[in-house]
Amino acid sequence: MDRLWAPWRLAYVTAAQVPPTDCIFCDPSAGRDVDLVVLRGRHAYVILNLYPYNNGHLMVVPTRHLAALEALTPDEQVELMQLARLSEMALNEAYRPQGINVGINLGKAAGAGIEDHLHVHLVPRWSGDTNFMTAVGQTRVLPEELGATAARLRPIFERLAQ
Ligand SMILES: [Zn+2]
Repeated sequence: MDRLWAPWRLAYVTAAQVPPTDCIFCDPSAGRDVDLVVLRGRHAYVILNLYPYNNGHLMVVPTRHLAALEALTPDEQVELMQLARLSEMALNEAYRPQGINVGINLGKAAGAGIEDHLHVHLVPRWSGDTNFMTAVGQTRVLPEELGATAARLRPIFERLAQ
């Protein structure tokens, strides 16, 4: 059998699969007392935002280190939306919000805090809470600790994912 020897391609594939060591989304449990991940899928996971805009602020994150929707495989695209759907259902069950902001910031100019690793925000909303955009970078008073939020959401996600 003839084989095309393409070492440059191997190097490219290998480089693409080695995540940077300082990416918090590639290693979301590193250096944390509290596990913020509430659901792990095959190609993506759901994690609490360490600096939430509101109680229950979630992010759906592809496991692979990639910066844009363009880089997603079809399987990753499907699972990202499946986990966003489960997140909507879990937030509605746990918090009964009056609305949910679902959004992606691509690039620094668009407001991405971490621009190298794609993530989808889900922020539960109540009428009268602070505006989503003006809340960025400000200190909010949150009545619920992150550990309590994770403990509350994890069993809901586990049931919904079955
Ligand atoms: Zn990463």
